[in-house]
Amino acid sequence: MNGRIHSFESFGTVDGPGIRFVVFMQGCPFRCLYCHNPDTWSLDAGSEYSVDEVMQKIERYSSYIKASGGGITVTGGEPLMQTDFVTELFKACKAQGINTALDTNGYTVIPESCGKLDELLEYTDLVLLDIKHINPEQHLAITGCSNLHTLEFAEYLDKMKVPVWIRYVVVPGLTDDEAGLRRLSDFIRKLSNVERVELLPFHKLGEFKWKELKLQYSLVDTPEATEEDIARAKRILGV
Ligand code: SF4
Repeated sequence: MNGRIHSFESFGTVDGPGIRFVVFMQGCPFRCLYCHNPDTWSLDAGSEYSVDEVMQKIERYSSYIKASGGGITVTGGEPLMQTDFVTELFKACKAQGINTALDTNGYTVIPESCGKLDELLEYTDLVLLDIKHINPEQHLAITGCSNLHTLEFAEYLDKMKVPVWIRYVVVPGLTDDEAGLRRLSDFIRKLSNVERVELLPFHKLGEFKWKELKLQYSLVDTPEATEEDIARAKRILGV
């Protein structure tokens, strides 16, 4: 089975525990205003790799990865656009004793896709669930898509007892409103499987990619998030 992959990172340290081999999948249904990987949006770009080819790459680093308490993280783009491939890849990783993490925006339809999801989750040690905004209107404005599927997926992961780290990008003036953060906090508190809440500061390192792709970057005048912005959001969220 082949997957369409944008790129690999051999020594990732920010996408899950320990040192991670990170696979960036192609394809994403969202169009986040702050996306730093707009070159992953298209399912037609990138290159095709088989599960065996990806495993060969991972095997070179598996001793470092395992010694650090790390593993593989599949991110994107949105990995759930290639669920069958990710399932096969995670199956192969688990056969080698490699820890697996899925970094996703949770845009999948419950219950229609539960059969496939259940198989994938059987081989998934951790889900890094990106919630873009808890308020449906703001989520739509930020991503171009509803947050209904993401929130349903979060509840499904809770039901399935899959460990989750919630990730939230703090964008000044866009995702740091107090009412939204309080509502997000209430939502997270209802879930029993959340091990960690990570707040990621908005930065503009990917802005040049928007220009290269001739896309309109609307956050030109938005300031990057400061340590104070993150501390404030943490206080409101209670994390
Ligand atoms: S979900 Fe991730 S890859 Fe997709 S548009 Fe948003 S930030 Fe970019």
